[in-house]
Amino acid sequence: MGSHVQQSKASVTVIGLGPMGQAMAGAFLDAGYAVTVWNRTASRADRLVARGAALADSAEAAAAANELVVLSLTDYDAVFAVLESAEAAVAGRVFVNLSSDTPARAREAARWVTERGGSHLTGGVQVPPSGIGSPESSTFYSGPVEPFQRHRAALEVLTGADYRGDDPGLAQLYYQIQMDLFWASMSGYLHATAIAEANGIPAEEFRPYAVSAASIMPGMIEFYAPRITAGNHLGDVDRLAMALASIEHVRHTAEASGVDGALPALLAEAVRRGVEAGDGAASLTSLVARFRRA
Ligand code: NDP
Repeated sequence: MGSHVQQSKASVTVIGLGPMGQAMAGAFLDAGYAVTVWNRTASRADRLVARGAALADSAEAAAAANELVVLSLTDYDAVFAVLESAEAAVAGRVFVNLSSDTPARAREAARWVTERGGSHLTGGVQVPPSGIGSPESSTFYSGPVEPFQRHRAALEVLTGADYRGDDPGLAQLYYQIQMDLFWASMSGYLHATAIAEANGIPAEEFRPYAVSAASIMPGMIEFYAPRITAGNHLGDVDRLAMALASIEHVRHTAEASGVDGALPALLAEAVRRGVEAGDGAASLTSLVARFRRA
């Protein structure tokens, strides 16, 4: 029975054992996969090896061990360092590259792998390591649809899979536009907290108000997206000139509190250009076209 289970076991390689790769290899072990791992710093594999993972002695040996090879590396410089060292094992493998970088870098890696007879699927994981192993989590995928479909069940051991199309850059593009929103929201939260704390309001006291302010965003996006799609930038509910005054109030409040005003100043600058170009009576959404021209 044991040997029968061994033979029919699904198997996968995970290369890169940062917090993400460790969580991924762990999720595959939990799901009963035979897991081969490799990491530049071998000691990071210790806990996985104790749980039954096989540690390969090179990236090439790790890639050679299985058709499905998951890469979880810091960025695509690391990806290329690993792929080049494993070049002899690339043909016939499906590399699922869950490392973050730009769409252009993803296309470059996909070309490199494809030219050597392998397949490359780009992935943009939308959750931290704690979300790995949960079907409610989601990862953007793009690249050739056939290997994606063939390995979909394995990928869904990690997170839900949202296939965006065959352009290998797409998964990173979707990932980066999410991150654009994430960083703007986080910097707004951190900046507001700095103003609060500079005025004696601890982060914990600000918390429910910050949550309430952030909760407005989904409704704003639902309201504005169809108007942006339709090219409707009427200033019927908000006006750019009002936005400029409001952002300047934030900047002045920050500066009067001894908090760096560079962040609101940057936004005010973009809005001011719109007002100066004659969009003062139009909606804030007129900035989308302005950002594109800039
Ligand atoms: P880390 O940067 O902590 O670890 C990634 C791995 O990359 C490490 O195992 C490291 O090896 C390896 N590495 C880096 N440079 C090289 C190189 N030149 N050659 C060989 N190996 C190298 O990243 P995470 O595990 O946190 O994340 C992995 C990817 O997932 C990243 O692209 C990240 O952006 C993305 N991601 C991470 C999230 C998170 O919350 N952590 C959330 C969503 C996406 P070594 O151990 O030897 O240093």
